[in-house]
Amino acid sequence: MGWLLVLACLAPLRAAAWGHQGHMLVGAIADQLLTPQARAGLQRDMGLTLAQAAPWADCAKGVGLGTRGFEYAADERWPSPACTRFETAEGVQAMQSYASRNWNTCGQLRDCHKTYHYADVAYQHGRYRMGYVGTNDHDLVHAINAAIAQLQGQPVPPPFSITSRGEALRLLAHFIGDLHQPLHVGALYLDEAGNTVDPDAPGGPEPLETRGGNSLDMGHGDNLHALWDDLPDGLRADAVPASMVQAARALRKSRAAAGRLAQTWASDTVAVSGAAFAGVTVGPSRLDRGRVWPATLAEPADYRARQDALQTRQLTKAGARLAQLVNVLYATPR
Ligand SMILES: [Zn+2]
Repeated sequence: MGWLLVLACLAPLRAAAWGHQGHMLVGAIADQLLTPQARAGLQRDMGLTLAQAAPWADCAKGVGLGTRGFEYAADERWPSPACTRFETAEGVQAMQSYASRNWNTCGQLRDCHKTYHYADVAYQHGRYRMGYVGTNDHDLVHAINAAIAQLQGQPVPPPFSITSRGEALRLLAHFIGDLHQPLHVGALYLDEAGNTVDPDAPGGPEPLETRGGNSLDMGHGDNLHALWDDLPDGLRADAVPASMVQAARALRKSRAAAGRLAQTWASDTVAVSGAAFAGVTVGPSRLDRGRVWPATLAEPADYRARQDALQTRQLTKAGARLAQLVNVLYATPR
């Protein structure tokens, strides 16, 4: 477990968006909206439902580089029955292969695949645009487009290595969930004193990133990101409310071509992400294993109510859009 400790010291920890329950819930909604072709295609190419596949990209974060090469160890920080189905000899081999092919290919020494799960666009922009601080060629939008390229039979752009349709589908099932977690796409940049900063404005103070809200200390060991990880009370992946499936089915489909959908949906998430920071009061930062800002909710009950409503809406959209994308990818006969 030595490498895990090293990792914990070197890399800022990013929590898993939604947790496995949230990802599986998104997959479970999508599973109910698939066309017969798409359902058959998923069985043929992946052998899993979208709900089963959705946690895979987080499970693969358990692969580290030890003295004997790449090794998988179930991550103790995220105990997860959702990963057990991938812990067969063949399954572990698949996770090690993916992590090793996406390890040091993005300008970092390790764990490039962990950067595929998010972008950090300043929420005040209200949209995702390549070139903004917090975007890059190995962010969440590009990761989704790389998986789509594999499924369309096109070359997968570097730095991604996605070598089979099954792998691409497992990634899509997860990443479309991440794309709808407000704190995985929209970001709050601050100065040392805790004032909001636009990182793309020339001549301003140095923008400091709050790592998806992980650096906002809400007290009692909580941070803002963690508050957004949990599902609203009572929501479970194995009992999706019919009202959510109905709302997902009724959602208007995006009209962009498959290769433009990730950017369109990322913009939508940046636009709503400001709500996650509204009503949060931030104080001057302190250094505590990295920079941390104390933060409080002005009106906790009101914030929680708005948060539950936004999370439910985002999970619904994620399920609808995952289904839309998979249906489109299987609409044309191969
Ligand atoms: Zn993720």
